[in-house]
Amino acid sequence: MFYEVVGKISIAAIIMALGLIFMTLILGTILVKKNRLLFPRVLLFTVDTFYLQLKGVAHFFGMSPSIVDQIGIEVRNNLNLNRFSSIKSKDRILVVPQCLRSIKCPARLDSSVGVTCKGCGMCMIKEVKEEADRLGYGFYIVPGGSFVERIVKAIRPQAALGVACFKDLNIGMHSLSKANCLVMGVPLVKDGCVETTVNAKDLINVMRLGIERGIEDVQKGCSHELGLKDAKS
Ligand code: SF4
Repeated sequence: MFYEVVGKISIAAIIMALGLIFMTLILGTILVKKNRLLFPRVLLFTVDTFYLQLKGVAHFFGMSPSIVDQIGIEVRNNLNLNRFSSIKSKDRILVVPQCLRSIKCPARLDSSVGVTCKGCGMCMIKEVKEEADRLGYGFYIVPGGSFVERIVKAIRPQAALGVACFKDLNIGMHSLSKANCLVMGVPLVKDGCVETTVNAKDLINVMRLGIERGIEDVQKGCSHELGLKDAKS
């Protein structure tokens, strides 16, 4: 009798999990392709809880597994947009990956603060850093996700704006959220290990959010790239 009840509960739990996974892939595809966000909190719960299973199912149906990361990033960006806008720039940090640098970058990696840009102009970081400095952000060029977690632990910013490939960005946004840091993310438009690219205009638009640029402006100007949709929950 006991095992029968346990068996029935297990089967019901598996069916519910599969239902959530399929629903998330369908709604996530609508989000990514049609620019429409439905049930964001359910999507986020499923992406965070069934991350690997979602990737497996997406792969099984011939979808790119990175769609799971894209869904996580876009949902978080939408949910956090208003709160991020209300946080002062001095309480925000901007974190970009060192792979954005030129392969000829003269700057060196420091184990406590990351890479300190020398402003040589051989990559887009110079422009982004200048804007971050002008707005009052803390600015970091980091070698990886664990470095970001260390910085957040040490500095305790109220919000972090991150740049990375889909997978690293989604995982990073998830872990910083658990550490009570409000996160926004701008994905790379060309990833890889060296000389990657981010859309500097989109990134600067988000940096200025709530400071020199209204939410509506950002939604009009770069909503597609950043996944800032009309949310319905
Ligand atoms: S602009 Fe800064 S990060 Fe980019 S290559 Fe030059 S020193 Fe390195």
